[in-house]
Amino acid sequence: MFKKDFPYFQNSQIIYLDNGATTQKPKSVIDSQVEYYEKYCSNTHRSNFGHANKATQEFENTRVILKDFINASSKEEIIFTKGVTESINFIASSFAANFKTVIISSLEHHSNIVPWHMQGRSLGNGLEVVNCNDNLDFDMKHFEQLLKANPHSFVSVTHISNAFGKIHDIEAITKLAHSYGAVVLIDGAQSLAHMKVDMQYFDCDFFAISGHKTFAPTGVGAIYVKEKHLKELKPYQTGGATIHEVDFNSSTLLDSPYKFEAGTQNIAGVIGFGKALEYIDKIGYENIEAIENSVYTYLNEQLSTLPDIIFYNDISDSIGSRSFNFKGIVHDDIGILVDKMKIALRVGHHCAQPIMKKLGVKGTIRVSTAFYNNFKDVDALIVALKKALDMLK
Ligand code: PLP
Repeated sequence: MFKKDFPYFQNSQIIYLDNGATTQKPKSVIDSQVEYYEKYCSNTHRSNFGHANKATQEFENTRVILKDFINASSKEEIIFTKGVTESINFIASSFAANFKTVIISSLEHHSNIVPWHMQGRSLGNGLEVVNCNDNLDFDMKHFEQLLKANPHSFVSVTHISNAFGKIHDIEAITKLAHSYGAVVLIDGAQSLAHMKVDMQYFDCDFFAISGHKTFAPTGVGAIYVKEKHLKELKPYQTGGATIHEVDFNSSTLLDSPYKFEAGTQNIAGVIGFGKALEYIDKIGYENIEAIENSVYTYLNEQLSTLPDIIFYNDISDSIGSRSFNFKGIVHDDIGILVDKMKIALRVGHHCAQPIMKKLGVKGTIRVSTAFYNNFKDVDALIVALKKALDMLK
């Protein structure tokens, strides 16, 4: 019923089930891109003519929308980035660089693993990984052991696993981490498309946001930084638009957020991000969560009827992504065959090789839904999977 808001679905017959990789964009978001480039394309925070002022106003409007959307305390806590990858790299290379220990979960995306390796950390050497059980649940006891052994560490964990849809209990993780003096970053790449997030409730110190996974254009995202860390936080890039005063000896920087947003930003992208958030607000998270839960449950029921299917977790505490394999079948072959039947899903390691290795698989077949998916999409997927299985057996 919501597909009508998304031009992609009018222009193609594809059953799109790769929302974990990126989401489709509603017409209001696409229109905002055309409008910016056709009607008032100018730089922000620099020139002082009408269109430049409008660009600045629209850009800054998204900051306020996002602040309200995630219930941050002030708009100064919202810093625009290219996406979650840049958000984590920023915090890793500035605020978190000198922490003796970084603690991550077993389900992390490479974007929350590789930046730590780049600092020379490895398992047991500045990097610790919280175990998960056979259902991929975060092991709170092990987490507490790690916190006890490494007080004042930097905890960086995903909210929702892109590979398996597992939801981590962020409030509990943050509370425990804080009780051991740790600072907490949450990778929220998969969050906003599926559920309401609230910075006051989560109480995390940093929260990384991806625009393109939240119905907004690619190349835009944000990092929420709790106010008390803003003074201590150092920019990891500087240059134009970050400064108050410069001479050949020194520079003084502006306050947050501007000192962290060096160079010309993805202006159209940020404006489109605001439109995407307004669109979500219009649908409402109550509706989004209800639809997604019912489609996800139906998806699981239907997949469970297929012969020799292997799941790696049940659907408790999970949303969005459902990962599986079929005994004796190479996941890539399924991807190639269902693509011919107009089903878009992802096969592979989903940028989460460490957990794949732990599970002893090279990759999985991943179906990832958004609120515009429906039971019919699931039915079409099941028909395609059955045909593919028949061909491969
Ligand atoms: N973290 C998770 C859990 C993700 O799913 C992704 C993207 O797939 C990323 C990080 C990277 O996000 P971005 O594309 O916004 O850089």
